[in-house]
Amino acid sequence: MQQKYDYLIVGAGLFGAVFAHEAVTRGKTCLVIDRRGHIGGNIHCEEVEGIQVHCYGAHIFHTSDKEVWDYAGRFVTFNHFVNSPVAIYKDELYNLPFNMNTFSKLWGVRTPAQAQEKIQEQIAELEGKMEAAACDYERLTELTAEREAAQAALDTLYEKWEQLSEEAGE
Ligand SMILES: Cc1cc2nc3c(=O)[nH]c(=O)nc-3n(C[C@H](O)[C@H](O)[C@H](O)COP(=O)(O)OP(=O)(O)OC[C@H]3O[C@@H](n4cnc5c(N)ncnc54)[C@H](O)[C@@H]3O)c2cc1C
Repeated sequence: MQQKYDYLIVGAGLFGAVFAHEAVTRGKTCLVIDRRGHIGGNIHCEEVEGIQVHCYGAHIFHTSDKEVWDYAGRFVTFNHFVNSPVAIYKDELYNLPFNMNTFSKLWGVRTPAQAQEKIQEQIAELEGKMEAAACDYERLTELTAEREAAQAALDTLYEKWEQLSEEAGE
């Protein structure tokens, strides 16, 4: 006998799985198909010698939305995980995302104000180079990206600085 479904869902990744779950809880019927031999799409994991291996690259669940957190928590138990990556630059290990340890190792500075000063110097230096590279568009693109990264670092520092000052009631 031929079975009929309300929905045919192509892809058993997060989107397809959540959609199917929500549809079924509302009394609909779904057929979920996937060209891969497993469910979960890009977040699929396989257990190898007791370790959950993320087959398509490491995934970390993060949200600041309580509703999303509570929703996901209905299906899985999260373990406590602090993302603390490090980067190797010229044979040295640096904390990422950058923090005062990174700046201290890079430039020998000790306070956020000294780090801000150092980044501002670098921005000024980059702007000088950008002026000199005026018609060399390839170089200009590289320098613009570097300048944007430096500005983003500076903005983050200011943001963190303000947040810490507020918390300290200053
Ligand atoms: C390396 C990597 C790291 C990531 N890290 C994070 C992270 O840390 N945190 C985070 O929140 N997000 C992360 N993401 C993003 C996250 O993986 C995706 O946002 C999420 O998995 C998307 O879910 P989806 O259901 O939309 O798509 P997918 O997971 O891609 O699922 C789509 C499914 O549809 C199937 N499909 C597609 N076309 C067809 C077809 N024609 N016929 C049959 N089946 C089909 C595919 O086989 C697949 O299984 C990362 C992504 C990658 C690649």
